Amino acid sequence: MDCLFCGIIEGKIPSSPVWSDDYCYAFKDINPQAPVHVIVVPKAHIPSADRIYEGNSVYVAKIFEAIPKIAEKLDLGRGYRVITNIGEHGCQSVQHLHFHLLGGAQLPDRMN
Ligand code: 5GP
Ligand code: ZN
Repeated sequence: MDCLFCGIIEGKIPSSPVWSDDYCYAFKDINPQAPVHVIVVPKAHIPSADRIYEGNSVYVAKIFEAIPKIAEKLDLGRGYRVITNIGEHGCQSVQHLHFHLLGGAQLPDRMN
């Protein structure tokens, strides 16, 4: 299977690591949209957030346990945003579940 983020997790494609544990890996986005822009991915290939079921939801739980620790490590005490894009209309460009963690400045207004 040819998946960019699986390649990054396996170390075949270089990345700038921010966090790693048994369930997830976080690395700096190559095209940052905020002073801090980190991508958090499960260490299992899950195509997107609409492919979560009982057998893989532990990865999502573990990611959301890790996110506050990553935020603390990155000095995001004033707040941040977590986004996941899903499918074509959601503008998902990499088909491996990932959460954008954005912060480090006042973020622009939002859609929701
Ligand atoms: P999406 O558009 O799927 O929500 O997010 C994919 C993200 O992956 C984008 O923000 C993009 O900048 C980032 N990205 C794409 N290719 C690479 C890469 O090779 N390395 C890193 N670090 N980030 C990447
Ligand atoms: Zn993958």
